Amino acid sequence: MERGLNTRCLHLEETEGKTENYGALSYPIYQTATYAHPGVGQSTGYDYSRLQNPTREHLEKTVANLEGGTDAFALSTGMAAITLLMEIFKPGDHIIAEADLYGGSIRLFDNVSKKNNYEFTYVNCSKDDIEGSIKENTKAIYIETPTNPMMNVSDIEKIAAIAKKHNCILIVDNTFLSPYFQNPLKLGADVVIHSGTKFLGGHNDTLAGFIVTNNKEIQEKLRFLIKTTGAGLAPFDSWLILRGIKTLGLRMEQSQKNAIRIANWLKTQKIVTKVFYPGLPEHPGHEIIKKQARGFGSMITFNVDSREHALKILENVRMIKFAESLGGVETLITYPTTQTHADVPEEVRLRNGITPCTLRMSTGIEDSDDLIYELENAFKGLE
Ligand SMILES: *Cc1c(COP(=O)(O)O)cnc(C)c1O
Repeated sequence: MERGLNTRCLHLEETEGKTENYGALSYPIYQTATYAHPGVGQSTGYDYSRLQNPTREHLEKTVANLEGGTDAFALSTGMAAITLLMEIFKPGDHIIAEADLYGGSIRLFDNVSKKNNYEFTYVNCSKDDIEGSIKENTKAIYIETPTNPMMNVSDIEKIAAIAKKHNCILIVDNTFLSPYFQNPLKLGADVVIHSGTKFLGGHNDTLAGFIVTNNKEIQEKLRFLIKTTGAGLAPFDSWLILRGIKTLGLRMEQSQKNAIRIANWLKTQKIVTKVFYPGLPEHPGHEIIKKQARGFGSMITFNVDSREHALKILENVRMIKFAESLGGVETLITYPTTQTHADVPEEVRLRNGITPCTLRMSTGIEDSDDLIYELENAFKGLE
């Protein structure tokens, strides 16, 4: 019987029944760059920390287990993970990417990856014809679901079937739901990406990124690449993310509970013109997310009736912080137009639905009464 996710956030079965590391319950931080060899031609299994470090390895095994992958790679940031993944392609390869991706991913593809002669086609994977964009040189489909920030939901199983049919791989950035709510590999994806900075770490105190796969060929390429390029996660940060993961389930449940209450509260506000939250029954992706995930998450995007009101809300919040990032214990609100998606060209932003009236909130684990009270105060007088 497969153990539950909360258990798997805490325990790695393969290390059980042993009292390694003096029985320490908190996995030790192996703060070392290199490892002494027992003799010539011998190794303890560890030679140099760019290639491997026990603390990072313990974290990688934990994340691979949570996603149902055969291997995981822990990197210094989410962007380092996506950058490393881009190295598995070769000049002339074509990638179909979701149009409403995290702004940093679009910035990477358009300003760095294109230099390698990669070709990108952006489509709205929740409604456009993906198959129609496939070409002879298409090697991958790269999606997020729900998307950042417009919360579009696309059908992972359906897109995985298209990818298989055309012999390309499906990459899913699973940052928004975390492995607690969604496991794309089990739905047919080949590679999962995480910004570990967000829900996995969960405390807004460090950066990290992950690549998880169950494809042996990709796994071998990535093991070579992480050793060669050197953006592996440092031992102390690996420990922080391991500690964060221990409470992943509790945090996801509490922040989702807050999100559901806030999404419904926002709907009752006169100045709110639209709420994008896949947990609302009227969200166009509601049935799909219910089918492929175990929860809706805690990210809410909403539009107000004017740019002035959007800016006023950002100025009025006090306990809720006006800050980039998401997925931590504290509730944050951000303004995609000038923050997370500032480098996405305005016409692309507007086409994706990101307007100067759009705000994005990541609900934390505070008491929901206090969050509602805070929002009531921030919205006061804005009519
Ligand atoms: C934040 C984020 C990233 C980038 O991760 P960093 O850890 O900030 O480098 C990638 N994808 C999504 C969906 C994100 O929200």
